[in-house]
Amino acid sequence: SATPATLSAISNGAKNGILFKGGAAMEALSTMDILYSDKTGTLTYGDFVVEEYAADEDTLKEVVTIEQHSSHPIAEAIVKKFKTLDLDSVDHSEPVEEIVGSGMKKGDIIVGKPDSFKDYTDPSNYRDQIIAGNTNIFVGESGQITGFFSLADQVRDEAVHAVENFQNSDIEVVLLTGDNETVAEKVAGEVGITDYTASCLPEDKVRFVNESQKKSKIVGMIGDGINDAPALANADIGIAMGSGSSVAMESSDVVIVKNNLQKLFYSFMLSNRLNRIIL
Ligand code: ADP
Ligand code: MG
Repeated sequence: SATPATLSAISNGAKNGILFKGGAAMEALSTMDILYSDKTGTLTYGDFVVEEYAADEDTLKEVVTIEQHSSHPIAEAIVKKFKTLDLDSVDHSEPVEEIVGSGMKKGDIIVGKPDSFKDYTDPSNYRDQIIAGNTNIFVGESGQITGFFSLADQVRDEAVHAVENFQNSDIEVVLLTGDNETVAEKVAGEVGITDYTASCLPEDKVRFVNESQKKSKIVGMIGDGINDAPALANADIGIAMGSGSSVAMESSDVVIVKNNLQKLFYSFMLSNRLNRIIL
């Protein structure tokens, strides 16, 4: 069981909006060698704005109907933007499936990342409308691209300083995202991360975590999505954003209640001080 010093550090962390599920996580945080970070909702607000779109009204209605079944920030932005559409004409009986890390599916219709549409024809030339540095989404039906959305998100105010603080404490910070290469490069550049990998599936994130562990590194992973949950569970210290999906929080040892990454660094310093007391 936790020592009084550890309990006191946990309580201090809690007052600052960082919940530790146990003494072990508080003691381990400052021993971390590498911190893997998700992008959307973690380094960014996950508050997307639909900047461009192209689709006919029936397709739009299908997309909104489909995205109502997803809690992904992209889905929330699309549903919000088109909330006034009347969806009565859409078939609501067909099941909608989430393809974690890639998009959504309803029968023949898929909505998701452009990578999934490599074999699709593109009669309306939506591929030419992709905006570099944005998150771009296609809609496809029966082998044909039928819609396009381009969404933008913003880096969290405190992300740059938090990343810098961890780096100055000799923690390697690495970005892993399911999003495309140009967004990954842009966000990494904005927050000062040089090592990033785009188009990661949930199992790719797990692989990165496990590879570092094989090199005897103590691995932290921070994320918010369903797609991050397996990596969060595999990391030595799994850290979830409070705004994240419940499965991300359940898979983690630490929760950043108000999503402030600087508070995580504050807890890292508490852990540091604690280990100096214990040792
Ligand atoms: P991240 O690692 O950036 O949080 P995800 O792994 O959750 O991203 O998703 C990867 C990509 O899959 C997104 O950038 C998007 O292109 C696509 N995607 C995921 N969920 C959805 C959805 N509900 N609707 C449309 N596209 C989605
Ligand atoms: Mg995310």
